[in-house]
Amino acid sequence: MKNLKWFFPDTLSEVDKLLEDGYKAHGGGTFLVKTSLNAKGLFDLSRIAELKEFRGTDDSFILGSALSYTEAAGFLESKLPGNLLSAALSSAAACPLRNRITLGGSIYASPKWSDIIGPLFAAEASLRLSSKVEPVSVADYHSDKKIRQSGIITEVIIPKANIDGSYYRFTQTHFDYPFFTISASDRGGDILHCCLTGSKDGPMLLTGRRADLNKTSSSLPEFSRERGLSGEYIRNRAGIELQRLIKLTGGNNNG
Ligand SMILES: Cc1cc2nc3c(=O)[nH]c(=O)nc-3n(C[C@H](O)[C@H](O)[C@H](O)COP(=O)(O)OP(=O)(O)OC[C@H]3O[C@@H](n4cnc5c(N)ncnc54)[C@H](O)[C@@H]3O)c2cc1C
Repeated sequence: MKNLKWFFPDTLSEVDKLLEDGYKAHGGGTFLVKTSLNAKGLFDLSRIAELKEFRGTDDSFILGSALSYTEAAGFLESKLPGNLLSAALSSAAACPLRNRITLGGSIYASPKWSDIIGPLFAAEASLRLSSKVEPVSVADYHSDKKIRQSGIITEVIIPKANIDGSYYRFTQTHFDYPFFTISASDRGGDILHCCLTGSKDGPMLLTGRRADLNKTSSSLPEFSRERGLSGEYIRNRAGIELQRLIKLTGGNNNG
């Protein structure tokens, strides 16, 4: 195996130069292990103090991108018990992996089975990047390669009002990769903001009145055949689980 050059920056100001020189960020390393061992070298983000911080403002939670799923879920759960994002992060993969997987690495890699992308789409979260002053929406970051390659993610900004809600991941065993996930952000009233992941079309936002969303469940996008389950089965199952989640989310608002 090729020898990798490693860097351990202590400050964010060192990062842009490392990127410019062709080195790659290392978050938890759980995706890099499979995909990027041919990189010229890596710089680890865990020593940059500001990337490990979390804080609340009047209207948002702000999470450093080098926080692990476990750390982020713990912080959010302590501030807003039962929120959909901490439910998602604490059910992903298995405990040793959740202790390694970082927010920034996951949002950049954004695998089809991600447990973080759906909740962030549903909550209309945004990201601060090392290369830009203004935050960008997670949806824009996800769809625009130029933005993704412009710098590293430094912060994840989550509107407090948007993470009440519910989360569902469809797996065959508890620590399996999900075939699909559904996140439902409940901001009061009859409108729900949902996100379905796992289909051939990538993350899909479904926003509307509960009664209308219930009808959408019969016209979801296509899924690929996977691990012994047909695409049609997975799609039908997603429709049923979407209806269930709509019913579960928001107590008295259910029609
Ligand atoms: C067996 C297994 C099961 C898994 N199951 C699940 C699951 O059920 N649910 C789930 O959500 N995830 C799961 N994962 C994790 C997922 O597949 C990815 O490996 C993970 O999300 C990557 O995060 P990381 O911090 O390890 O990123 P890394 O591997 O460190 O990096 C991934 C990519 O992101 C870049 N990067 C790292 N940090 C940043 C940053 N701050 N800004 C910009 N780019 C950055 C890297 O350069 C690299 O290109 C699983 C992983 C494994 C190995």
